[in-house]
Amino acid sequence: MSVNASRLKAVENITSRTAPVVNKTESLEDIWAIDVFNLEKMGKVLSKEAFESIKKTTQTNTALEAEVAEEVASAMKDWALEKGVKFFSHIFYPMTNATAEKHDAFIVTDFDGGAISKFNGSLLIKGEPDGSSFPNGGIRVTNAARGYTAWDPSSPAYIMQTENGATLMIPCVFASWTGEALDKKIPLLRSNDAMNSAAQKVLGLMGESEIAPLNSSCGAEQEYFLVDAKFANARPDLLLAGRTLFGAPSAKGQEFDDHYFGAIPSRVQVYMQDAEDQLYRLGIPAKTHHNEVAPGQFEIAPYFEAANVAADHQQLLMTVLQNTAKAHGFVCLMHEKPFAGVNGSGKHVNWSVGNSTQGNLLDPGDTPEENLNFLLFCGAVIRGVHKYGPLLRAVIASASNDHRLGANEAPPAILSVYLGDQLETIFEDIKNGKLAPTDDGGVMDLGLSQIINFKRDSGDRNRTSPFAFTGNRFEFRAVGSSQSVSGPLIAMNTMLADSLDWIAEKLDAAFKEGADKTTAVISVLKELLSLHGSAIFGGDGYSSEWHEMAVKERGLKNLPTTADALPYLKDEEITKLFESTGVLTPLELESRYEVYAEQYLLSIEVEAKLVVNMAKTLIYPAAISYLSDLAEAGTGMKSLGITLDDATAKIIAFEANAMMAAVAALSEAMEKEDFSSTDEHMQYAATTIRTLMDNVRVHADTLENEVSDMLWPLPKYQEMLFIK
Ligand code: ADP
Ligand code: MG
Repeated sequence: MSVNASRLKAVENITSRTAPVVNKTESLEDIWAIDVFNLEKMGKVLSKEAFESIKKTTQTNTALEAEVAEEVASAMKDWALEKGVKFFSHIFYPMTNATAEKHDAFIVTDFDGGAISKFNGSLLIKGEPDGSSFPNGGIRVTNAARGYTAWDPSSPAYIMQTENGATLMIPCVFASWTGEALDKKIPLLRSNDAMNSAAQKVLGLMGESEIAPLNSSCGAEQEYFLVDAKFANARPDLLLAGRTLFGAPSAKGQEFDDHYFGAIPSRVQVYMQDAEDQLYRLGIPAKTHHNEVAPGQFEIAPYFEAANVAADHQQLLMTVLQNTAKAHGFVCLMHEKPFAGVNGSGKHVNWSVGNSTQGNLLDPGDTPEENLNFLLFCGAVIRGVHKYGPLLRAVIASASNDHRLGANEAPPAILSVYLGDQLETIFEDIKNGKLAPTDDGGVMDLGLSQIINFKRDSGDRNRTSPFAFTGNRFEFRAVGSSQSVSGPLIAMNTMLADSLDWIAEKLDAAFKEGADKTTAVISVLKELLSLHGSAIFGGDGYSSEWHEMAVKERGLKNLPTTADALPYLKDEEITKLFESTGVLTPLELESRYEVYAEQYLLSIEVEAKLVVNMAKTLIYPAAISYLSDLAEAGTGMKSLGITLDDATAKIIAFEANAMMAAVAALSEAMEKEDFSSTDEHMQYAATTIRTLMDNVRVHADTLENEVSDMLWPLPKYQEMLFIK
């Protein structure tokens, strides 16, 4: 028997390893944001005028003046050089879930061959990456060949440290020469502007005299798996697709609920603390960490920040978690469903909007006045989720997140809003006219006291809802763990802007007819709820009754796959939404559809190729090898007059043949090229290809449970999930 030694060796190596001791004794104060060129550091080195100007730019998103940029750039360079930095890089956020960087040295040689470090305002502000290989959905083909990057001063520059040096990183927007957004940052900034101007209108109509610029906030909870690198390296599927395409369930999974919030394994604890130290140096406020539901699954959540900064920090956090994992001998899996049969990973995006004068507008206040604003903003969100549910589904659509949504462990693919009992009752009462204005301009007692006494109740949770009010914010739970938070934030800000515009128009009309504030708000909300209240749902989002009721009675869309969801990006209403709010032009939106569709098709293509390859070169040989061992043993025994039962051999032969037949069917299906549209191609991938991949897996997983453990080439679920 030729034992498959690599897998067994990995187990041995992992269990006998000594963990790296990371001895970090610096206090939080010593390390907090020391690698960030933030306002505090600028305050110490810039002239008073320059500092005031950049402060205004960062806080209100106004353009950075050229002279100020020059002064900031020079101060930034001095700060970085003093810290030993030799390179700088514009970092930008293309239409993938990853970041892109172009590194340049500070150094330029002069005519005498001497080295001088050159870095001025124009270099800081603008770069020209030859980014023609970034996905652009056809924009650059039709326009100019090159893109440019430009510093986003609202997101501070920082230093990425490696053992051999450091690089100054400058967060940037990425656009085509003709001004189209080629990234996720530009639309996020625009969506914030759109939300701000619509919110200003509503608050102005509500009689607020001083209204500071509004910003959206985001706090994202990141789930991930840790698997020892020795296991991951022995699994082509984990390496190339980020998930296991094969693997029989482990005898023990997550059914004991003994992992969630349990004691964190010490090797993992050391890893987390190492990563958090780096996050603190980068000014990322990592706040909580704990085990998650599945074995080997964990979560980290930073404190919330302005959405634009939070989005950049989220990308950086994923990079730090992944890089640090390598140093600790782990692979950090951000994939939404790395292992079948146990929970997948999500990224809860907590979102609110507010400013320095009115505070958080999704936080119920202490006065009826504040609560009228609160109810209007909440109503605006409800309208947004109802009217643009398919958009919210489309912005979280990916080949990997499809495995999670609707799988009875993560939110369903139907978008509804959960409000909690108390708030739901208030909106019910408004809708049913129970909270009607009275003749003397007040509201009925019941209503008024309800509005006055509304207290937030954050303990009220419904884990099955994709979009839940959690006391002072909404939590978009259907977002996938590997995704950029920008897409969801753009969609939420934009739908809110649209709803607030609608509300402003209605309020204005009511006031013109002489209504007082309470009457106007209640009547606008009543109309809003009669049109959009069907998105409110407090029951069990996993149940089949809901799936039926949502679609049949409430007219909500159930879009289980990316192939079902992405075409909505071409929908007329959604195109109009982005155009009217100035967030994306029709061309920019269309290019996003093209890019995301292509990514979806490529992901499935890679997986399908891997399924074929692994089945042929790893699994089939193991099965055949065991069969020949059995045959040899059978012959040997026969000479001793002993007959071996051939049941196992028969099962293996049957399953191996069936698997290879399924492989042949999949290979053939992958040849198809003649699709009439991208939509049709996506449907084909979502249904035909994925089903054929599953068919191969069924036989392979059966073989895993029949073939000798000594021969099995792939690390098994029980090893990957439980050995740390
Ligand atoms: P959960 O109870 O859902 O596990 P946590 O308290 O761990 O949530 O984290 C929730 C996230 O929501 C954190 O990132 C937190 O900073 C963030 N958060 C809290 N308040 C707000 C708010 N008003 N707006 C946006 N995010 C918020
Ligand atoms: Mg949460």
